[in-house]
Amino acid sequence: MIQLILFGPPGSGKGTQAARLVDQFHLIHISTGDLFRYEIGNDTELGILAKSYMTKGNLVPDSVTIAMLRKKVAAHPDANGFIFDGFPRTIAQAEALDTLLSESDDTIDALIALEVDEDEIVSRILNRSLTSKRADDGNEAIIRKRIHVYRDETTPVFEYYDAKGLSHSIKGTGTVDSIYDKLQGIVVPLLAAQSEN
Ligand code: ADP
Repeated sequence: MIQLILFGPPGSGKGTQAARLVDQFHLIHISTGDLFRYEIGNDTELGILAKSYMTKGNLVPDSVTIAMLRKKVAAHPDANGFIFDGFPRTIAQAEALDTLLSESDDTIDALIALEVDEDEIVSRILNRSLTSKRADDGNEAIIRKRIHVYRDETTPVFEYYDAKGLSHSIKGTGTVDSIYDKLQGIVVPLLAAQSEN
């Protein structure tokens, strides 16, 4: 069992790297953003609620997000482990995740942050908006709002796990392969240490 948090600002490449980790290590990838977009696509009550926050660049309220995450984790009782992408985004979410994992005597093994500066993020997301059709991607003011929400509400989550000695930071620029090499440099020793125990 390995429990990873893939961390970093919007557009830092978490989804791209998560897909590669899933292929290599057979983990379950949970992206709260993808889950919300699925609900929006199906016009569910949850989707309509989430959309009202997401299109403004705000976070969906913790109670809603945590309940959705719990349901998703519970749907995979036999998983090898999880990659949490876009969650936790607040300290309350981090505490809820720790509680949830502790119910099955588990804990987070590592938080890995991808570092990308603001201008690079804005240009990546505007570029993505040409194909993603995401309502929150095409407008520079909304993108900058998301980055500020990340700075104010989400970066404390890095400190929260850093205080437990679990946070790592790597540069999120360069080729996808070179970033993945650095990620593996963190994940492989963790798995090796686990298989020794
Ligand atoms: P990005 O990281 O590129 O902004 P995501 O797909 O992770 O994209 O998230 C898009 C939006 O979905 C966020 O701006 C927020 O409104 C909502 N969202 C996703 N995850 C969470 C979360 N853990 N808590 C609250 N809101 C969330």
